[in-house]
Amino acid sequence: MSSKETFIQVKNLKKYFNVGHGATLKAVDDVSFDIKKGETLGLVGESGCGKTTCGRTVVGLYDATEGEVLFDGVNIHNLDRKEKKEFARKAQIIFQDPYASLNPRMTVGDIIGEGIDIHGLYTGQERMERIYHLLSLVGLNKEHASRFPHEFSGGQRQRIGIARALAIEPQFIMCDEPISALDVSIQAQVVNLLIKLQKELGLTYLFIAHDLSMVKHISDRVGVMYLGKMVELTTSQQLYANPLHPYTQALLSAIPVPDPEEGKKRQRIMLEGDIPSPINPKPGCRFAGRCRYAKPECFEQNPETKEVQPGHFVACHLYK
Ligand code: SF4
Repeated sequence: MSSKETFIQVKNLKKYFNVGHGATLKAVDDVSFDIKKGETLGLVGESGCGKTTCGRTVVGLYDATEGEVLFDGVNIHNLDRKEKKEFARKAQIIFQDPYASLNPRMTVGDIIGEGIDIHGLYTGQERMERIYHLLSLVGLNKEHASRFPHEFSGGQRQRIGIARALAIEPQFIMCDEPISALDVSIQAQVVNLLIKLQKELGLTYLFIAHDLSMVKHISDRVGVMYLGKMVELTTSQQLYANPLHPYTQALLSAIPVPDPEEGKKRQRIMLEGDIPSPINPKPGCRFAGRCRYAKPECFEQNPETKEVQPGHFVACHLYK
């Protein structure tokens, strides 16, 4: 699925929010990674870890506080109006909530056709043919074009959201927890549809989720975020077989194992303490207050990200 060519480079990205009284919420704090053409990079972590803010800053929905996001070498945070519109054709978003993200007063055909109209891609019969084609790509049919969102189930609405994202032939899609709001029975169908479309259309995905088992299924590589920092990044296989960061180990130990014998062998690591606030975070490792391996150095110095094995990056003082 993945090729060697780098498509997106995120360099020292920061996204801070001023929350008043001189306080700063550091939602994304010096995060770097790249995404290769045709691959899926999963981004996981508990809610509030900054993964969605990171994804939104990568596609330009938020301005970056500092750092760069390069698409094919061009920094998308330095674009003028016209260039931004052109960039919007390359990068699209599938939203978490298929109920809230579709306009209830528009027909499905017009929801999917909106991007085609904005970018002036097709008109008249060609436009309708394109909409019908998109509906069939996502497993719906042309009769659905004249209906309204409330006539569909959650899974079907997410298919409409996917068709809308595909309408202007993007190269990259930021999937913002696209299955979290769906029934478990439907989640795999939507993930399998995204995998099929990726193969057929050569798409590149940033897949944001807190469900670690589904992320494993779709991702070539996975990054783990904790309180605005990327704490571990490696191939999906490596991450699940050999997690190195204590936070990743705790997250993975909480995934239910289908085999009861395997489950008995696995030790669940309970996280100590509460998730600290990302507002004015303390110096040192952000995970120090909950980490069973924390040592004095961890409370003073932020751990640098190191490549401890080829392609396996970890930010933790345990790895020198
Ligand atoms: Fe734990 Fe220290 Fe590693 Fe942070 S740097 S994860 S506190 S061992």
